[in-house]
Amino acid sequence: MEFSVLCTRVNVLILLLALCSPCKFIQSPVDIGPLNFHQTTNTASLDFGRIIFNSPSAVLRPLSPKEISFLLRILSASSFSKVTVAARGAGHSIHGQAQALDGIVIEMDSMPSSISIHKNVDSGFSYADVSGGTLWIELLEESLKFELAPRSWTDYLYLSIGGTLSNGGISGQTFKHGPQISNVLQLDVVTGKGEQVTCSHTESSELFFAVLGGLGQFGIITRARILLQDAPQKVKWTRAFYDDFDTFTRDQELLVAMPNMVDYVEGFIVLNEQSLHSSSIAFPSHLQFSPEFHSKGSYKVYYCIEFAIHDYQLKNTTVDQVVTEILKKMSYIPSHFYSVEVSYFDFLNRVKLEENSLRSRGLWEVPHPWLNMFVPKSGIKEFKDLLLDNISPSDFEGPVLIYPLLRDKWDANSSVVLPDGEAVVYIVGVLRSANPATCSTQCLTDLLQRHRHVEQAAATNPQIGAKQYLAHHRTQDQWRNHFGRNWDRFAARKVRFDPLSILAPGQGIFPRTY
Ligand code: FAD
Repeated sequence: MEFSVLCTRVNVLILLLALCSPCKFIQSPVDIGPLNFHQTTNTASLDFGRIIFNSPSAVLRPLSPKEISFLLRILSASSFSKVTVAARGAGHSIHGQAQALDGIVIEMDSMPSSISIHKNVDSGFSYADVSGGTLWIELLEESLKFELAPRSWTDYLYLSIGGTLSNGGISGQTFKHGPQISNVLQLDVVTGKGEQVTCSHTESSELFFAVLGGLGQFGIITRARILLQDAPQKVKWTRAFYDDFDTFTRDQELLVAMPNMVDYVEGFIVLNEQSLHSSSIAFPSHLQFSPEFHSKGSYKVYYCIEFAIHDYQLKNTTVDQVVTEILKKMSYIPSHFYSVEVSYFDFLNRVKLEENSLRSRGLWEVPHPWLNMFVPKSGIKEFKDLLLDNISPSDFEGPVLIYPLLRDKWDANSSVVLPDGEAVVYIVGVLRSANPATCSTQCLTDLLQRHRHVEQAAATNPQIGAKQYLAHHRTQDQWRNHFGRNWDRFAARKVRFDPLSILAPGQGIFPRTY
């Protein structure tokens, strides 16, 4: 087909999208030359949060970055069009961030999954080239065939490479290796103008850093080069319990100061019997721990540190000797330390067992009013008190994660914003499920309001000074506050790489211009 004819047909489609929106005029897959549009799919207006359901007018399932580039070139050249575009990875956002109301959703899982592993290249390091819609579990499975694995993870692996790199990608390895965005060597990106750019720390670096943690605002990641390390075979996975918050955080900070011995550090608040049970599904050890939640007329919570050690790093010592050495320095409740040895794969894939258990009880596909906050070390105790005052610990469903990260592992050029100042910053994940059987629409609204109250109180109280991770804000002013002194850079990058604000409308940062 002649390019000009093709352009006309695509323009007609765009025009229709612009004029008919929000009517659903596409009844079945529409073949516009190389662009294969579908009527909106069930998944395109759905995410893990199940709070926001914005339907697009069309869904594109591209087979190559060229198709994405082609679409964005047309859209950015058509001054009449108000169409927006959202890349959708695995759709595990909470607040519709991968949705595009009356726009076009690009389902990245349609791209042929390509993972190529490069072991011990020139300077001795190894990496994987992966397409943006690939899931981290797929990369793990493939790289383990070469006895390699990425260094930095999220707790859950059924998330897309492009989706987590657009946010940060945090887990218990982050204190040691930085977030996932600190472990990327190169990206292929299609910008909002439709340009296909290969970028890295040294090549088109402004785009590279903009896209990392950039909330999908600057371009669509079609390929990422991820740093790999030698994979351990086994992991010693441990848990220690606490009844005192200061002791718990002091021990966590002690552990993250020992990166030569420790490979993973997380922790969670034991809010009730149920939270102890559900967080232990994947931990194959019988816990002899029966905490007394009602104590001296008040409600008491407990804390758990999780740390892990890989088996490969040790030369003249065993994993058990290292654990013993570490435990001497820790102050958990005597006799409440537990450890198990599991395969590296099972350790990384531990949340899958929780997913399976929740699915079997019909509790996975329910609304998830989550709140994730970065909290400076100096404000963590006050934040914990604020949170507990607002969440009704006795009937809370879901985990509350809390563990320290080290600022110097984050590249300040990336788009992520951490709270200003301190070297140690905690991540707190309030990962609540709202079972519709016990929590109605009004109850869900109340929970969301309570989280918003906590988020605002924690952001505006100078004693806490927290910022959201996986942020959700309603107005541009709130986003301006969120980015603080980095707002001007963020906005300037937007003008440079997506001047018409076509991309990732579900984040609600920049209105579409035309
Ligand atoms: P989507 O929801 O599909 O997209 C998220 C955003 O990224 C959207 O704005 C979208 O437009 C954009 N986007 C998607 N793909 C691309 C691309 N290729 N290029 C550019 N932009 C793109 N996060 C952590 O850091 N650590 C955790 O341990 C962790 N655990 C989680 C556990 C569960 C069960 C869930 C549901 C989420 C968890 N998350 C965690 C959050 C998760 O990292 C983010 O929600 C992430 O965005 C999910 O990836 P996704 O592929 O589902 O993204």
